[in-house]
Amino acid sequence: MRLFPVFALCVSLCSASTVFGETTMPAVTVDNRSLPWMKGACEKLQTQLIAKYGESQRTRVERGLRQVAEFWRSGDGDEASFEDFVLSNFAGDQSTLNTMFNRFQGLVEQLNGHMQEITREFRQQADLDAGPVLPFDDLFAGYDPSAHAVDDFFNNKLAFVVLLNFPLTTLEERLTQGPNWSRQQWAEVRLAQMFGKRIPAEVNLEVARAAAESDSYISQYNLWMFHLVDQNGQRLFPPKLRLLSHWNLRDEIKADYADHEHGLAKQRCIQQVMERIITQTIPGIVVNNPRFDWNPWTNEVRLATEPDADSGNTQYGNFTNAPEPSTRYAMLLKTFQASRKVDPYSPTAPSLIARRFDEDREIPEQRVREMLEQVVTSPLLPKLAALIQARLGRPLEPFDVWYDGFRSRGAYTEAQLDAIVAKKYPTAGAFQKDIPNILMKFGFSPEKAQYVADNIVVDPARGSGHAMGASMRSAKAHLRTRVESTGMNYKGFNIAIHEMGHNVEQTFSLNEIDDTLLEGVPNTAFTEALAMVLQGHDLEILGLAAPDEQTNTLKTLNDFWNTYEISGVALVDMDVWHWMYDHPEASPQQLRDATVAIAKNIWNKYYARVFGKRDVVLLAVYSHMIDSFLYLPDYPIGHLIAFQVEEQMRNAGAIGPEFERMAKMGHVTPDMWMIHATGKPVGAEALLSATDKALTSLGAMKN
Ligand SMILES: [Zn+2]
Repeated sequence: MRLFPVFALCVSLCSASTVFGETTMPAVTVDNRSLPWMKGACEKLQTQLIAKYGESQRTRVERGLRQVAEFWRSGDGDEASFEDFVLSNFAGDQSTLNTMFNRFQGLVEQLNGHMQEITREFRQQADLDAGPVLPFDDLFAGYDPSAHAVDDFFNNKLAFVVLLNFPLTTLEERLTQGPNWSRQQWAEVRLAQMFGKRIPAEVNLEVARAAAESDSYISQYNLWMFHLVDQNGQRLFPPKLRLLSHWNLRDEIKADYADHEHGLAKQRCIQQVMERIITQTIPGIVVNNPRFDWNPWTNEVRLATEPDADSGNTQYGNFTNAPEPSTRYAMLLKTFQASRKVDPYSPTAPSLIARRFDEDREIPEQRVREMLEQVVTSPLLPKLAALIQARLGRPLEPFDVWYDGFRSRGAYTEAQLDAIVAKKYPTAGAFQKDIPNILMKFGFSPEKAQYVADNIVVDPARGSGHAMGASMRSAKAHLRTRVESTGMNYKGFNIAIHEMGHNVEQTFSLNEIDDTLLEGVPNTAFTEALAMVLQGHDLEILGLAAPDEQTNTLKTLNDFWNTYEISGVALVDMDVWHWMYDHPEASPQQLRDATVAIAKNIWNKYYARVFGKRDVVLLAVYSHMIDSFLYLPDYPIGHLIAFQVEEQMRNAGAIGPEFERMAKMGHVTPDMWMIHATGKPVGAEALLSATDKALTSLGAMKN
């Protein structure tokens, strides 16, 4: 249900990006007190409509008039046109209302579906492995044909038809009354939500501008690793290694566990760099600049003695190690200030925080906080930490929050797997042809497997791969996968199975659902969870042995440790947004100090007891915090959801029928979806009890 095409785009596995402006929201009070005739007109119309359609329509009449009046501006028409509009468009009996609902449902599907087709076609050159991308191709790729759809629908009054006849709801109502609504009532609620907000174009533009500016800052924040010099003047990293903060830095820490000689020194060095970024004591001149050597402990900066990049001949006569002037926090503040401008247009969700939790996630913030605290205060953590310590053979250090050593080596080498996959899938077409077989291995019946396969088109991807679903039943889902000239490799195959999982979900949740207004899943965490279930069985699809018990046990511990880490990161993100709302006039320096204090506080509360060290700031290093508008809580919630879905699949045995049953629930609240899928609401229990079992089976509970 949306006027904006959304597609699952797994940039790196499982981190789908948010689509901005996609949020829908309940009642917005545009100040109609400036329309002096509105109150009287509504009273008159109310009497007229109830006289015409009967007392049974009173609640609907009152609600419809209130909703339309809230959004009506002087430019929409004078008193006479308002009255005329209401009298002509109120559906006063069930049969007319049903006709209206069905017509809107069908036509919204057509609009979304065709917009999605245009978007997919316009992105083709950028997304597919189809020769060079010319500058104008990027312009096509960036074009959003539905950018003005909501405005258009207010201007031609179709939005007002919806608001006059269908209910806007609060999260509270959807949570408490939603379980008793019929499917059509749910679809009507989603229809109304499309027009629950009428934000002035200049406000939307400001949000987009802040998003673009912070995104650009983040996307160029590289560290040139060869130029990091340690306390002994040693270089730890190879030439030309350029790492983007924070993703590549974090992943380097993870990879360094395999480097028994220099890994630890590298990890300590990266921690030092991360701390400098967070506290903004990093010399501004070393950011994205390979011309200087930098000692992140002493902060000494020198002209690079050994250049390792084609850096031109820029002269640096005078340079200093002056710290970056809190630009990181200036960027974050801009996203906050822009978000605040939306607030007056959303009285029932009057902050970005409320819009994120009540509208996008549809899980109240307090409940999310409780779930995360359940993870970070778990009594299992000290036991798991002791196990990690034993495996490392040294006390934990703060960067071990990214410990990556629970992955057990499989029975096959990457090269062996590459050879098996390349032989089986020399081309994208070979993979396409095999989809029905693959689906049957997951337990889908031959007919169902063929049906789903017929709705998936495989294209060769320019990047690593992604899935792009359809938004109308007459169109198909697209699976983009990377195939080298030597054939598909194992990594590409693993991603292709993940993306195929998205396509299977997209097909069921659009083509097989009762009401297309309920198309999709509650949020991206659900489609990621379903995709990961299929991805986790990739070896069996190749006819190889499934991961053994030990591997599964270690995977559970790995999931739990990752959830622990990202829960703290999310709690920092949440507290920082609250601080900004409490201090709307703060300077970048004040926000920097507050963020550092919040990060230390969360660490001291939930990590110090596990790591034996206080006042660590690392949890504030995530780049999403700067440019993603309070997106980080989606990750830990996603881990919990994935675990619940996986456990249900394990218990059910055959994946196919269970996958289909879950995916057909559609876009209801996360708790309703999860109760339908597993019998329980979204929560941390499944992960915690599996971790408990895993620790016991490893004998770690003895001490
Ligand atoms: Zn994905």
